[in-house]
Amino acid sequence: MKKNTSDKKLRIVPLGGLGEVGKNMMAYEYGDNILIVDTGLMFPENDMLGIDYIIPDFTYLSDRANLVRGIVITHGHEDHTGAINHVLELVNAPIYATPLTRGLLEVKLTRGSMLNKATLHTVEAGETVQIGPFQVEFFHVCHSIPDGVGLGITTPAGLVVHSGDYKFDHTPVDNWPTDYAKLAEFSDRGVLALLADSTNSYRSGWTPSERVIDAALDDVFRAASGRIIVASFASLISRMQQVGTAAFNYHRKLAFAGTSMLENAKIARKLGYLDLPEELVIPIEQALKLPPKEVVLMCTGTQGEPTSIMGRLSTGTNRQFDILPGDTVVLSSHPIPGNEESVYRTINRLFRKGAEVIYEAIAPVHVSGHASMEEMKLLMHLVKPKYFIPIHGELHQLHQHAKIAREVGIPQENIAVIENGQVVEFQDGGMKLGERVPGGYVFVDGAGVGDIGPSVVREREALARDGFVLVNLTLDQHSCNLREDPEIITRGFIYARNEDDLLGATRNLIKSVLDCSKNGELQGDLEQAIKSFLYNKTKRRPMVFVTMSRS
Ligand SMILES: [Zn+2]
Ligand SMILES: [Zn+2]
Repeated sequence: MKKNTSDKKLRIVPLGGLGEVGKNMMAYEYGDNILIVDTGLMFPENDMLGIDYIIPDFTYLSDRANLVRGIVITHGHEDHTGAINHVLELVNAPIYATPLTRGLLEVKLTRGSMLNKATLHTVEAGETVQIGPFQVEFFHVCHSIPDGVGLGITTPAGLVVHSGDYKFDHTPVDNWPTDYAKLAEFSDRGVLALLADSTNSYRSGWTPSERVIDAALDDVFRAASGRIIVASFASLISRMQQVGTAAFNYHRKLAFAGTSMLENAKIARKLGYLDLPEELVIPIEQALKLPPKEVVLMCTGTQGEPTSIMGRLSTGTNRQFDILPGDTVVLSSHPIPGNEESVYRTINRLFRKGAEVIYEAIAPVHVSGHASMEEMKLLMHLVKPKYFIPIHGELHQLHQHAKIAREVGIPQENIAVIENGQVVEFQDGGMKLGERVPGGYVFVDGAGVGDIGPSVVREREALARDGFVLVNLTLDQHSCNLREDPEIITRGFIYARNEDDLLGATRNLIKSVLDCSKNGELQGDLEQAIKSFLYNKTKRRPMVFVTMSRS
């Protein structure tokens, strides 16, 4: 199945992020050469019980690992970096990233004990590196993390522009706008294809500048009489900067809570991406001893995750400190689709504990890091691509982005709306769809990678929904006469008060269907019979287990 070098095709193989929000990963393939862009993870939805996170299915690379010439990471967010350790277990290729992205990757690689195995190259925005047949130009983009880049990838088949996550913020927190000039220069050279971020393709107008948060934070800090606790993503470095500046202006000390936030802040400060006066930042232990009015704490947990610090604060199970009446809690983020319910549950609990909670719906304490419609159009006009492929988004977001592309004049037949695993090929200036390769989910659960499949998740769902029924039978040594009444134990299935009748009826059923002639399948048949009996009676589907012993 290996490509042969004589057919000169550029193949774009989307391994993640197309048809979903998260776990972004793209492979560019030319002859016997592969360039990987981003290795992201995705956080599980509420109904994926017990799953820590999800990584792309990169089975496609398993017999091509030696063809990978390099891995480029566009910026330091989890949905672009989070699967790096897993990818490096398969692929031994150098990683290219800007200084801050590299720093954040190193934190991740160290935690996964992969730092020794990894070869890292620092590339500054504006620089060009040759990776196999791919000449990759890094151009600066604004986003909600500093040092993000998009890529101009010159291949023998033509120039492809890969936007990464971007917005056109004229007044970003780090005063470093997106590199418009480079984008325009690409169009001078002629762009074969543009692959661009679709996250906000439903949002009209322009995404507000990150600067609007400064004013909102200023209001919060002026009004707060007690502690201020700001929750954000651990990788939102620019938010740390803004909170730090507000803390400084209002004579408060800042402390970071939680390992990932601490480590990211440390590396960003060391590399100069987070400019906070030495005496402003203090250890959390020290901050907790100061008067409430002199403190700002920053932690993770804006998505209602029960194990995050904010999640634990809301339920009163945080080890180091608790919510105090009079605390002001700022949730500086947008709920990821699917998380709204748990986010609002957390907010309610925080209010119940006496905190004042400020979130996106009531004050602009968060703005998106992604381009809105008008910015998407501007990108297309600057780059003037022949072909367009929307990336980063659920299918409806990709379709909406395609519609925007048609509005600015890219013909329908030059747009490919594709999901993970659908290969696109470019040859002699033409574009066509290739084959489908795997592009699904790989669940990571504790230390296990991929040993949890969708069927396990379905079992957990069933257990969570309808509980289980355990039936214990004691049979005669040589026949299947019951020695004792069947013992039935239920958990999470039925309310004790209603239990007796139902379980009595179940015992009778068991006695009536016990059929010794079908020795081997006895257990399975019994489980099936009990399942349908219980379903008929209760319209619920508990998991049913039958065990047998002989005496
Ligand atoms: Zn991002
Ligand atoms: Zn992203």
